[in-house]
Amino acid sequence: MYFPYVVAGAGLAGLTVAERIAAQKNERVLVVEKRSHIGGNVYDSYNEDGILIHNYGPHIFHTNDREVYEYLGRFTKWNDFWHRVLTQVDGNLIPMPITLETINRLYHMSMTLEEMQHFIAARAIPMKEIKTSRDVALSRVGEEIYQKFFENYTKKQWGLDPAEIDTSVISRIPLRFSRDTRYFTDKYQGMPREGYTKLCEKMVQNRNISILLNTDFAEIRKEIRFGTLIYTGPADEYFGCRHGRLAYRSIDFVMETYNQESFQEAPVVNYPNDYDYTRITEFKKLTGQQHRKTTIMKEFPKAEGEPYYPFPTPDCRAQYELYQKDMETEKNVYFLGRLAEYRYYNMDAVVRRALDLCRDELGCR
Ligand code: FAD
Ligand code: UDP
Repeated sequence: MYFPYVVAGAGLAGLTVAERIAAQKNERVLVVEKRSHIGGNVYDSYNEDGILIHNYGPHIFHTNDREVYEYLGRFTKWNDFWHRVLTQVDGNLIPMPITLETINRLYHMSMTLEEMQHFIAARAIPMKEIKTSRDVALSRVGEEIYQKFFENYTKKQWGLDPAEIDTSVISRIPLRFSRDTRYFTDKYQGMPREGYTKLCEKMVQNRNISILLNTDFAEIRKEIRFGTLIYTGPADEYFGCRHGRLAYRSIDFVMETYNQESFQEAPVVNYPNDYDYTRITEFKKLTGQQHRKTTIMKEFPKAEGEPYYPFPTPDCRAQYELYQKDMETEKNVYFLGRLAEYRYYNMDAVVRRALDLCRDELGCR
């Protein structure tokens, strides 16, 4: 069977490319997806109690990229949503990321912004070179705050000391000299009004798009012919792991439903120092759904299992670069998305990459 375009993987990367090719080039696209559903990790669904859950962890859309926001806005209306996270430190629930509110609540003080600046400056450890995530945190907030908020959370999440991890990881969490306790400060933030799965379904409502679920691309690779392939699965698997398996971090998502309206004070509560899980998400507080019961999710990070996060160490990056060299020799194949590019992309970055690929390489407007 011949298709001018084949997309391996029906996550946001693959679906954006499929949508653009089908709509703009009016060409047929086959999307091949290993799982039983589209959406990749943004997939959401109603559980047996009728509560909308994010099956692969809490997803909050946020971006400063207006084109990406407007592009996805063609397929959904947005609920206004400003994400907030609390973290349990010394038995208290404290706002994350580190703001004036965090410092005042941690030390039971009522500092002004100026006092906070002096307070942090007296603790931050000056460094000539910032090489690791540990350096990022120590140089910003000093030893004590690092230990209470970052050290153990990072060890749980990655199974490594922050000193072994790339700077980009802890750099995701800002230090804010303000009272702004939102988790993100991007200009556009929101939750798709009917959920991510509905958004994804609208993206592929085009008769040029065919979707093959429950199918590993590797298994049908020899049976289908194509003009161009856009591959969004793990980079190593495409090449039969010839340079060894790339490390991806995985997570066990454990759901619990309670016969009560509310479980916790915030949509997400982090547990840096207690328990084996990193955080608890209460879905109703993300989606705004009204229901007499509530469902929560605990995240237990692990090394093996479904690949969710590229592994942020220099060794893994070097290993990935071997695959990158191989990619350059593949004709009419593009590697895209969090797994294939081995990058810790947020949703907006993945859509941006996909739109750029469509415009620059595939001839979409
Ligand atoms: P994926 O969503 O991983 O899609 C890849 C698809 O390819 C999958 O469906 C997979 O089954 C399929 N596939 C793989 N191999 C094959 C194969 N051989 N054959 C066929 N199909 C294959 N981003 C945000 O912006 N905000 C958030 O709050 C946020 N929270 C997150 C929380 C968690 C726990 C995780 C893991 C990620 C989070 N993200 C968040 C990131 C977001 O999920 C990603 O940026 C985005 O989903 C990546 O899309 P993708 O298409 O590149 O990859
Ligand atoms: N992090 C931390 N303490 C926290 C929250 C995050 O140390 O309370 C670190 C940790 O290393 C984590 C990284 O910051 O992996 C990025 O956090 P983010 O909330 O962006 O993680 P994600 O939602 O992508 O899992």
